[in-house]
Amino acid sequence: MKLYNTASRSVEEFQTLEDNFVKLYACGPTVYDYTHLGHLRKYVLDDLLVRTLRHAGYEVKHVQNVTDVGHLVSDDDVGEDKLEKEAKKYGTDAEALARRFEDYFFYSMDLLGVLRPSLSCRASDHIHAQLEMVLALEKKGLTYLIEGDGVYFDTSKIDDYGKLINQDPDLAKQVLMAQREGERVDKVVGRKNPTDFALWKLERPGENRQMVWPSPWCERSFPGWHIECSAMALEHLGEQIDIHTGGIDHINIHHSNEIAQTEAVTGKKPFSRYWVHHNHLFVEGKKMSKSLNNFYTIDDVIERAFSPKALRLLFLMSHYRSEQNFTWDSLQAAQKAYLKLARFVLNLRTSKRNSELELSDFPGAMQLHQDFFTSVENDLKTNEALTIVWELMASDLDSDVLYRLIMEFDQVLGLGLAGLTEESLLKSLQKSLDKKIIDQDFAQNLGLKQEVLQLTDLPSLIQDLIKKRQQARRDQDFTEADQLREQLKEQGYELLDLEDEQLSIRKI
Ligand SMILES: [Zn+2]
Repeated sequence: MKLYNTASRSVEEFQTLEDNFVKLYACGPTVYDYTHLGHLRKYVLDDLLVRTLRHAGYEVKHVQNVTDVGHLVSDDDVGEDKLEKEAKKYGTDAEALARRFEDYFFYSMDLLGVLRPSLSCRASDHIHAQLEMVLALEKKGLTYLIEGDGVYFDTSKIDDYGKLINQDPDLAKQVLMAQREGERVDKVVGRKNPTDFALWKLERPGENRQMVWPSPWCERSFPGWHIECSAMALEHLGEQIDIHTGGIDHINIHHSNEIAQTEAVTGKKPFSRYWVHHNHLFVEGKKMSKSLNNFYTIDDVIERAFSPKALRLLFLMSHYRSEQNFTWDSLQAAQKAYLKLARFVLNLRTSKRNSELELSDFPGAMQLHQDFFTSVENDLKTNEALTIVWELMASDLDSDVLYRLIMEFDQVLGLGLAGLTEESLLKSLQKSLDKKIIDQDFAQNLGLKQEVLQLTDLPSLIQDLIKKRQQARRDQDFTEADQLREQLKEQGYELLDLEDEQLSIRKI
């Protein structure tokens, strides 16, 4: 298996610290808002990594945090706590807000077929471990207190700060300084070096935070954002781990800080062997943001009749180290590809004869197997691996052999192909047709028999019943509406309600 390591800026042969055992830490969500498309891509690609490692025979302990305290609005050490700020906005308490969005995160993950981590750990449940770590750093003389602000890590006291950015510490420093200068001012008064960061924060006068804990520096204080990942990785995976994942925007600050504080505590033992970073997702060519109205969740995807698994397929179509530009057109193409794949798999399943075939008796199958896994095990090149899937779909190999291959591929792709049913496919086809993601021919080719009818083409009796029912729905008389629907069914017509009073009508 080969993996690109940000630390060396090269693709490396993957080697574990312990035989066949992978200790993997993934930076998890900050649960102050709905999980959006950018997050979805990141965690699908983490999932791909975990699945690929497991398929290759490794046991993987996958630890992922939930940030529910300490992440400030600026990603730096100033501004409000994201959780506290949003809780005020929603008129709820920070803990309730955190649980609500943590639930939404896992709900989204489940729909996308992302396996749950071996351990999901909350920052607020690890206050003690974080405090212990800060105290250990203080004891080593690596910290200083800014009165009324917090305890800071003095990056000038270690000689390799920023080595994730460049192994030459002077060059790393130049990069970081240029970045800080880009921000013009040093926002923290009393910070000794621009790269120093908060380990522990003190409540400001009048701030009235909900989440505070006592510490030696202040009765009302809370952990900084970066320390949580170091403390939880240390507690649950030990001093050294194999892989650490996160978005590329974490390289310069968050991950550089994690490395500095962890290695300072453990005595310079290299923290993570591999650093895996996912590139950005853009939406319609732009950075996702609420103000641009391009902030989409999994529910937005479902509402538009797309399958979450089609979205997953779309993410797999680009390499994790490439930027990806999400468009509804690209999702439409992925939905079509997914529906075709689903039909192909269901056809294979019905023609299965349960014979005891050996893959090795089929050189063509062995080749597809090898090509597919060589691609995914070469730095997770799913974009290449998927071309093998399309090749497989066009192959004339024995259907049992193809079925076995595609099921094994799906252990890594995670498209849920084993759980497909004829009914689920037909439903997807119907919805896709109603929302014009696919056309009638496409739907019929994949097995959808019913034809969608236009109101004006129907007998006048049926038109009248439908109009009456629409009126009943407008009047919120749902009993009447249901009765009329039943009457229509008796006449051989089935209605499907779409949004904005739109209807889809079919002959049963
Ligand atoms: Zn982290």
